[in-house]
Amino acid sequence: MNKENKKNSLFHIKKTILAVDDEDINLDIMASILGDDFNVLKADDGKVALDILLKKEQKIDLVLLDVFMPMDGREVLKTRQTIPFLKSIPFIVCTSDKNIEKECFLLGANDFIKKPYENKDIIIARIKRMIELYEDRSILKEVEKDSLTDLYNIDFFKKYAQQFDVTFPDVKKDMLAISINRFRLINELYGKSIGDAILLSVANQLKECISNCNGLIGKYESNAFLIYCEHHDDYDTLSYKIREAINKVEQGINISFSIGVYPFVDSSLDKEIAIGRSKATADTLTNDYNQNIAIYDQDKQATTLHEEELVNAFPQALLDEEFQLYFQPKYNVQGDKPVFSSAEVLIRWVSPKFGFVSPGEFISLFEKNGLISKLDMFILQKAAQYMNVWKQKYGLYVPLSINLSRVDVFRPNLVDDIIRFVEENIIPRDKYMLEITESAFVENAKIVVPIIKQIRERGFKIEIDDFGSGYSSFAALADLPFDVLKIDMQFIRSMDKNPKVKDIIKMIIDLSKTMNALTVAEGVENEEQYLFLKNSGCDIIQGYYFSKPLALDEFEKKIKEELF
Ligand code: C2E
Ligand code: CA
Ligand code: CA
Repeated sequence: MNKENKKNSLFHIKKTILAVDDEDINLDIMASILGDDFNVLKADDGKVALDILLKKEQKIDLVLLDVFMPMDGREVLKTRQTIPFLKSIPFIVCTSDKNIEKECFLLGANDFIKKPYENKDIIIARIKRMIELYEDRSILKEVEKDSLTDLYNIDFFKKYAQQFDVTFPDVKKDMLAISINRFRLINELYGKSIGDAILLSVANQLKECISNCNGLIGKYESNAFLIYCEHHDDYDTLSYKIREAINKVEQGINISFSIGVYPFVDSSLDKEIAIGRSKATADTLTNDYNQNIAIYDQDKQATTLHEEELVNAFPQALLDEEFQLYFQPKYNVQGDKPVFSSAEVLIRWVSPKFGFVSPGEFISLFEKNGLISKLDMFILQKAAQYMNVWKQKYGLYVPLSINLSRVDVFRPNLVDDIIRFVEENIIPRDKYMLEITESAFVENAKIVVPIIKQIRERGFKIEIDDFGSGYSSFAALADLPFDVLKIDMQFIRSMDKNPKVKDIIKMIIDLSKTMNALTVAEGVENEEQYLFLKNSGCDIIQGYYFSKPLALDEFEKKIKEELF
């Protein structure tokens, strides 16, 4: 029944009034005034009235209370204040004494009717209005509170948290999100009654904890609570008590929970945001039984926000061609003189909003959410188009290596798309090379190996990137489809410090030769590294020693310089 219907039907069922007075004549008058509109029960003393009310045999909607009786009306009001159930029933005091009115008001009386009784209609109207008011209040209470735990729902929690700030402006406060992990599973395995019992037990425990300090508790979703309270340095006791509350219900069940704490809440911040931060902090915890508390980390949060911004900006940035292909030349060093032989495509994001965003920042982010595939498709196509343009401009194909992400291989059309790009641009497939990291192979060999094999069988060249960092076994290496091994840059970096690394590099080069593959060393920065690699039989070298990654116009200059 919605609120409106409930209101309209309020007086269709006769409401029951309990009239309390030790003078029969007054009770009779009241009964005659109210008899048509209400059921009237009579009590000739405060004590009798309390007995009737507390027996709860009949629902009583309002009490009309005389003051001077053997058990004084004021005593009745005092008793009422200690019994929550009685506070849900409105009490109107009937008196002729103004001073007593004030006293009763302080004791919680809701309204007054003047004795002797005069205008019948006014009395009836007052009573009806008061009942209506109380009914509305209980409807409000129904939506304001979670029915199982009697805690505020999230909307009211936010509202009261706001009020809390106003009432205690100088108190430092924390926002906590507490969730019972895998709650659905608990409901499914042990039944809803156990699930409810756990929630109730935890809710009661939280109420007890919070009763010792200033704060309020809310409930959100089916399995979680919110607390907004005075700042605490640690919540170990709270965590311990929650564990106790859960154990009280079921000793045997292994139930974990997470407490996310956002301390020192900035009161100017929307409560929604503070709640979001505490929830996000709770989410950083795994379902570890022993690790229950996480504290909000400002720096980590800033990173997450920045990442969100990058992700949101991506679609438009791709359309606006904010992603630019850079080219890092590779040199074949097996002859007397190094010969410019190809280039690796490296992507740069030049954003009017964020400035220069390094691939180190966005590649792994875009791998997490799959955006990388869109970006790589753009790069694969662009690279083919440039090769076509250079063929027309310079009369030759400049071979390019393009990085494939571990995520790209899950794209159903990957092979078809690559073929389409080279065919549209009339490019020989062996000039179009794809780099994929060794770790991508190792992580997901069952899926990656067959796809890369397919690509290679279509005539494209495959390079294993960052080789030596992915820990593939020699046995596995024999099955990998590749033409080029690219030595992980870490080896080149550490060879100066650790002579043993040079032996490992030599081993990789020999291994590569055994597999009939070419070896590339990248990250080569100085002459010493270059000479060692050349003398060890490394075929191709890439690195700042020869050239940094170049923008399109610089790279075109380089092509002309090197080839003509
Ligand atoms: P990577 O494929 O291993 O690329 C080599 C990285 O080493 C590049 O960093 C390059 O600029 C850098 N580098 C080259 N020579 C030197 C040197 O002599 N010294 C030093 N210290 N560094 C050198 P970059 O461009 O920042 O790219 C980082 C990573 O981002 C790449 O590592 C690759 O994993 C990824 N990436 C770049 N472009 C793409 C792309 O188009 N698609 C995908 N999926 N990933 C890409
Ligand atoms: Ca690469
Ligand atoms: Ca690499």
